Amino acid sequence: MTPVTVRVPAKVNLQLSVGPQRDDGYHDLVTVFHAVSLFDEVTVRPADRTSVRVTGQDAASVPAGRANLAARAASALAARLHRRSKSAVHIEIRKRIPMAAGLAGGSADAAATLVACNDLWGAGLSPAELREVAAGLGSDVPFALLGGTAVGQGRGERLTAALAAGTYHWVLAFAAGGLSTPEVYATCDRLRAARGGNGTEAILSTELMAALRSGDPAAVGPQLSNDLQPAAVSLRPGLRRALDAGREFGALGAIVSGSGPTCAFLAASAGHARELAVSLTGAGVCRGAVRVRGPAAGAAVVAAEPG
Ligand code: ATP
Repeated sequence: MTPVTVRVPAKVNLQLSVGPQRDDGYHDLVTVFHAVSLFDEVTVRPADRTSVRVTGQDAASVPAGRANLAARAASALAARLHRRSKSAVHIEIRKRIPMAAGLAGGSADAAATLVACNDLWGAGLSPAELREVAAGLGSDVPFALLGGTAVGQGRGERLTAALAAGTYHWVLAFAAGGLSTPEVYATCDRLRAARGGNGTEAILSTELMAALRSGDPAAVGPQLSNDLQPAAVSLRPGLRRALDAGREFGALGAIVSGSGPTCAFLAASAGHARELAVSLTGAGVCRGAVRVRGPAAGAAVVAAEPG
């Protein structure tokens, strides 16, 4: 069996609407996922026991071994296939997606591992079957398989591809340190309770969907929305400065990505994105900024190296 390498994108949420907290503690979501061209790469090869090695961005803090979502993905796929022997793999993750950044890097690595093991083991599961295994691993994992632009419902795992035209140029501004997703949700609930509410039912923005169909970034920018943004900003007040600076530098839209703390800025063109990235970095409002394009394709095999 020759090693298999899969490339997988980060995501931003163009809309993230969070409904009231349910009795089981979860929130119903309506979200518009958008995959962008910031990729992790995952290589799997047969081994005597399952292990994970992480290199690149935040490598020292990403959990190794069983706690890594990629290792859990390999086990979940082996269980789904009733594969008892020869299911151990060495998983090598080359990270470019920062950890706990609101870009779903862990989910991306899990999705990549599912695609890689499906190929390595010649299991032949269909994309729909892989998505079922992915949904059991986490609400963002199915989208990392699909890529593109898609509406997510439920906890985000029920996906429908969105009709979106054109290519969008973004700047991702990274913050120092991550934010814990459960803590951001808890803060969102607290802020809502302090205002005497519990949030309202999450509904898909028809304005955003129409703007995406038009392919015009100037129409999309004003429709970006994130219900978790006030919570992320209250936990990291510096994000307000970054968002304001991006708007001053002409971003068509400025938003916290997912649970943060990464901020995503929509640019008018590739050239504008370049200027925006330089200006944001120069203004000292972020740890670093990268230019990316969306939509990007979902997890896909890039190489099957000779053993
Ligand atoms: P989301 O937006 O999906 O909530 P995130 O982008 O904010 O996630 P991740 O980078 O996915 O955050 O990491 C969330 C947590 O998952 C981390 O704190 C880390 O301990 C754990 N984790 C497990 N496996 C991985 C992995 N392969 N890469 C990154 N984090 C991982």
